[in-house]
Amino acid sequence: MNDIVKRHGSLPQTLAADTTYGNGELLQWLDDRGIAAYIRVKENPNGPTDLYGIDQFTYIPEENCYLCPVGKILKYIGINARNRTHVYHSTVKRCRDCLQKSRCTRGKYRTLAIHTCEPARQRAHALAQTPAFAISQRARRKVEALFAELKNYIGLRRLRLRRMRFVREQFYLAATVQNLKRLVRFLSSKPTPKLATA
Ligand code: SF4
Repeated sequence: MNDIVKRHGSLPQTLAADTTYGNGELLQWLDDRGIAAYIRVKENPNGPTDLYGIDQFTYIPEENCYLCPVGKILKYIGINARNRTHVYHSTVKRCRDCLQKSRCTRGKYRTLAIHTCEPARQRAHALAQTPAFAISQRARRKVEALFAELKNYIGLRRLRLRRMRFVREQFYLAATVQNLKRLVRFLSSKPTPKLATA
């Protein structure tokens, strides 16, 4: 990104990528720099489920806890370093006689895993529902098609020389070839002008 700032004077306003890049840390990094992330959010820390989602629980910031749909408290337990989530849970006693239990948990009590970068994930999720997201994905595919052509048809799967200036030269040459191919295709597809008849 430093290179981009040096060259263009500022960071991009948006960034489009595929779901592989939709992890919380990258989304947070982009968010911190004011870059709108047109990337689908990757993993759901709670896994795919038909049980009550996070949106059914109310966060109480003063006490750093959640209230469940029937008003019971889920207390903060700590961070799970393995999947980078804040963990909250209820207790067996609170959930035992709950009428909503079958819709809330398959265990003895409900646990919530909130990603440490959840706000950035939520923002990216909301952006993915906008028309701008679809436009950015179309633009992304056009660019990626050029890179695929470079790799698969022009042989730029690997670079022969190291160091940035040599890498740049190889890319410029390959891009020149790519543009020449396009030019030939464009010129050969032009309709032949009709001869004027008397
Ligand atoms: S099962 Fe527990 S956490 Fe879920 S709604 Fe009932 S009391 Fe609340």
